[in-house]
Amino acid sequence: MNKRKKIIVVGAGFAGVQFARKLDERLFDILLIDKLNHHQFQPLFYQVATSQIEPSSISFPLRNIFKNKWNVQIRMAEVTEINKSKNEIVTDIGNFKYDYLVIAIGCKTNFFGNNEIEKYALTLKSTYDAITIRNNILTTFENIISSNNKYGFLNLVIVGAGATGVELAGSFAEIKKNVLPKDYHGIDFTNFKIILIEGSKNTLNNMSENAKKASMKYLSAMGVTIITETFVTKYDGETVVLSNGNGIKTKTVIWAAGVCGNKIKGISETSITKSERIKVNRYSKIKDCENIFALGDIAFMETPKYPNGHPQVANVAINQAKLLAKNLKAIESDSNRTKKQLKEFEYKDLGSMATIGNNKAVVDLHFVKFNGYFAWFIWMFLHLMLILSVKNKLIIFIDWTWKYITKDTSLRLILVHPKK
Ligand SMILES: Cc1cc2nc3c(=O)[nH]c(=O)nc-3n(C[C@H](O)[C@H](O)[C@H](O)COP(=O)(O)OP(=O)(O)OC[C@H]3O[C@@H](n4cnc5c(N)ncnc54)[C@H](O)[C@@H]3O)c2cc1C
Repeated sequence: MNKRKKIIVVGAGFAGVQFARKLDERLFDILLIDKLNHHQFQPLFYQVATSQIEPSSISFPLRNIFKNKWNVQIRMAEVTEINKSKNEIVTDIGNFKYDYLVIAIGCKTNFFGNNEIEKYALTLKSTYDAITIRNNILTTFENIISSNNKYGFLNLVIVGAGATGVELAGSFAEIKKNVLPKDYHGIDFTNFKIILIEGSKNTLNNMSENAKKASMKYLSAMGVTIITETFVTKYDGETVVLSNGNGIKTKTVIWAAGVCGNKIKGISETSITKSERIKVNRYSKIKDCENIFALGDIAFMETPKYPNGHPQVANVAINQAKLLAKNLKAIESDSNRTKKQLKEFEYKDLGSMATIGNNKAVVDLHFVKFNGYFAWFIWMFLHLMLILSVKNKLIIFIDWTWKYITKDTSLRLILVHPKK
């Protein structure tokens, strides 16, 4: 058996955490680096943004996750560059050497080069973003109630009707109906419009016909204005300009219209796709690199089944991570290995789902597509199962049950430093 190898894992999202958990501790020492000190459960960001659950319920301190893993070291730092010739990474706290490097840095919001929209729009890619949206919405209503100048405040625009946009719109429609009117007596909420703008023909355009139709029907019934086959071309903090020339006055735009890869210097341009993902082979290895791998959202792996890369979802990240942990163990335990002993990644898509509101969700499985109460129940069950700790599962379960029964939550805090 070879001597212990040092692996640096950059990024503690779904892929990085899973990889560090699964890697054989008898063979490897791991240095896990993330700019945050916690893992984030991104699928429930929208519930933090709409004051349904607390940020701490979906944030998991890394030192706590790995407290029993003696071979895992953790550093909170931003990795800026890879120096391949020296097997070294550059970070804001110094340089670190590796035998193997695993890049699992995920994606960021893609504004498609529109700097003005980027300056004014809100995003939903981190717990901070979710809290910022929550602060912004609640502050908006404080402003409406205490000012005469209400123009623009009463429209909330969400750009992009994929799962994130749809879930946000549905959730805002619910608090508009059940929660905000009780908090802000005196505001006429019929004037508060939630507008969902989508470039393609449908909401949830990547899902089945059933999911597209059901989500459209649910959202319309909940009072969401849906504008399809239309793009946002400009936003200056006051007015959203649409590709059909129309304008919408608004102080709040949430941009959920696409992602692109986070960047680290040192990977050759030929290995980077147009959407900034890193090209890897079926073993997650980056082209032209012997000992550098990429996993999850940042990795672009072409397979016969997925010629345009895999969907950027948690399940892909988790399964790529598990397989790489196995393959690296095979490499290090058997120096006479042949490539045949390593397994290629094949994604088994179990289906997709999205929730629109209480009792309303859509589920696409291979053999059946359905929506309604049962779909919503399955959505909740699976998301609860995916949450990392038992304590957090319980807290979220209690928050959801409380909200279901009372149609209220008590989490509407504006948490901004008063001096800012
Ligand atoms: C709002 C939202 C809702 C979603 N809903 C679903 C859903 O319902 N189901 C589903 O399957 N998927 C969902 N996804 C997608 C899913 O969250 C991603 O596919 C998944 O997080 C990808 O995991 P990852 O490990 O590749 O990256 P991430 O989980 O994004 O983790 C990347 C990590 O890298 C760190 N990092 C980045 N750059 C650096 C750097 N330079 N130095 C150090 N650290 C760095 C980040 O801090 C982060 O912790 C959703 C995503 C979002 C944003």
